[in-house]
Amino acid sequence: MTELLKISLPDGSVREVPPGSTPADIAAAIGPGLAKAALAARVDGELRDLDRPFDGDANLALITARDEAEALELARHDYAHVLAEAVQALWPGTQITFGPATDDGFYYDVKAPEGREPFGMDDLPAIEEEMRRIIRADKPLRREVWSREDLIAKWAAEGEVFKAEWAKELPEGEELTVYWSGNDWLDMCRGPHLPSTGKLDPDAFKLMRVAGAYWRGDQNNAQLTRIYGTGWLNKKQLNAHLTRLEEAAKRDHRKLGREMDLFHLQEEAHGSVFWHPKGYRIWRELEAYMRRKMDGAGYREIKTPQVMDARQWEQSGHWGKYRENMFVIPDEVPNTQEGAELVSKDADWMALKPMNCPAHVLVFKQGITSYRDLPIRLGEMGCCHRNEPHGALHGLMRVRQFTQDDAHIFCTEGQVVSEVQAFIALADSVYKDFGFTYDIKLALRPEQRFGSDADWDKAEQELRDALSANGLEWEELPGEGAFYAPKLEWHLTDAIGRTWQVGTIQSDRVLPERLDAHYIGEDGEKHRPVMLHRAIFGSYERFIGILIEHFAGRLPAWLAPVQAVVATIVSDADGYAGEVAAQLKAAGIRVETDTRNEKINYKVREHSLAKVPHLLVVGKREAEEGTVAVRTLGAEHQKVMPLAEAIAMLQSEGTPPDLAAA
Ligand SMILES: [Zn+2]
Ligand SMILES: [Zn+2]
Repeated sequence: MTELLKISLPDGSVREVPPGSTPADIAAAIGPGLAKAALAARVDGELRDLDRPFDGDANLALITARDEAEALELARHDYAHVLAEAVQALWPGTQITFGPATDDGFYYDVKAPEGREPFGMDDLPAIEEEMRRIIRADKPLRREVWSREDLIAKWAAEGEVFKAEWAKELPEGEELTVYWSGNDWLDMCRGPHLPSTGKLDPDAFKLMRVAGAYWRGDQNNAQLTRIYGTGWLNKKQLNAHLTRLEEAAKRDHRKLGREMDLFHLQEEAHGSVFWHPKGYRIWRELEAYMRRKMDGAGYREIKTPQVMDARQWEQSGHWGKYRENMFVIPDEVPNTQEGAELVSKDADWMALKPMNCPAHVLVFKQGITSYRDLPIRLGEMGCCHRNEPHGALHGLMRVRQFTQDDAHIFCTEGQVVSEVQAFIALADSVYKDFGFTYDIKLALRPEQRFGSDADWDKAEQELRDALSANGLEWEELPGEGAFYAPKLEWHLTDAIGRTWQVGTIQSDRVLPERLDAHYIGEDGEKHRPVMLHRAIFGSYERFIGILIEHFAGRLPAWLAPVQAVVATIVSDADGYAGEVAAQLKAAGIRVETDTRNEKINYKVREHSLAKVPHLLVVGKREAEEGTVAVRTLGAEHQKVMPLAEAIAMLQSEGTPPDLAAA
């Protein structure tokens, strides 16, 4: 008699089944509803196909659409295969390469047949239609193990140059898996997949765009077309996503930045921002706000050099680990004689700072520090440069020159938890002032790391202790910490549900060691301080980008570059408009006047586009009565009020939240 396999289910029950049984058999035995709903299986923690037989006794969890993250990942992977199949069905001779799932969908890199132009946007509707046909045909997706040699032969015979090249590079004798779609199409793939194409919703995907891509990402290789799609479990999810995209496009900080005349970017300074007067006003208000918060929390502000020489970066470890991302400058002495070449002081290099940390340790190391002086909190509006590839740059969100609201806290071992607690409270008060909600994540030790396991146990526990003491919940991210320290991350949720990681705090025992920082303890001996790296905005550039998108340009009045515009209806009111503006200015309100000979509706439209919070409309009557007609951005009606009342309202709205609370 063959021995039965014991399959344990999440509810603790155990089912005994004959060898050769599959998760699909178990689902069917439990009930027809589950048999229909099951999409895949988690077998001893590994995501697998439903019809793949058990290897032995196992723990089994069946995956259904309720397990949204897994179900989406599976569906997106399947959509990618269906996309490739559809393109080949429509245009035989198309070569396929690879196509993974992405955060909101999938893509596939393909090469159009010889003689045909690369696929474009015009081709997408036909491909979508063919994909729907394949989905409706409900083709079974079946796993098969092939030898490497058979696979190479198949790809070569079909003229799939890229696939053949890839298969050839795999280790000899390796068994590979392929997935059949019905009996007429297959792709090599590790899987797993849904049981059939019919498990996909034909109305829950959309092809979005095409882009050029190179085989293996190398521009010396053949050029391919990457077809992008978004894919979901049902139509409702897809529509919600498309609405979100539309909303995000309206809020795009690059578009609003232009309309509001805040900043620009140009090729001559890739990834560095040209701030215009209005944009830099936002920056100045934020900076003043952050200064008050940090001063109030016991930080002291410093300013450190933009450029330090290579020896310093070698010692800190950046030269070894980070050089690729650093802007390096030869330490050359210009020879003033005309026509002479630069004299290089051989092997002397300098670099623009990619981070402020080493310089802060150097400040800490000046003089003798006693344990009584700790904690020392050094802050810097630190301007850093990182050499990011052009393709990675994106508006204010990803730049090469940025300024952090950076600070480093030097403290004793015993002070770490209370310092982290204080930072958690400070970060909370800042995010609340901007109306953000957030989640906190704890990134734990990565595979590659410095320091002993005992040190990591301690460092991770300190962060948990601080969170617990502040009564907060958090999610843990195994393996995602920095190589020198675990870190807490603040992920803000914006007005349209997107999340942005901004704030962080990390406890570091490595850099103080490398740069030999110490203090004199109570025992008169030298001790290493712990260094806490922390930021709340992250960078001013990115935080301003996030604020613009979060508020869709309608910044709170205290941040608005122009808080009010006094606009005239008739030129008779010009004198009065000037008077009103002067009084507003005297009251500390950022005001402009618009006395152009234009229709009032034209002025209203223009200032709404620039997202000015209040328009103070004045005509003859207002001039006589000493009033203003206030049109608030987004409001339907205007409200006539005495000038003094308008000033009081603007003053109170324009007060930064940290000052208003006092
Ligand atoms: Zn696949
Ligand atoms: Zn740092």
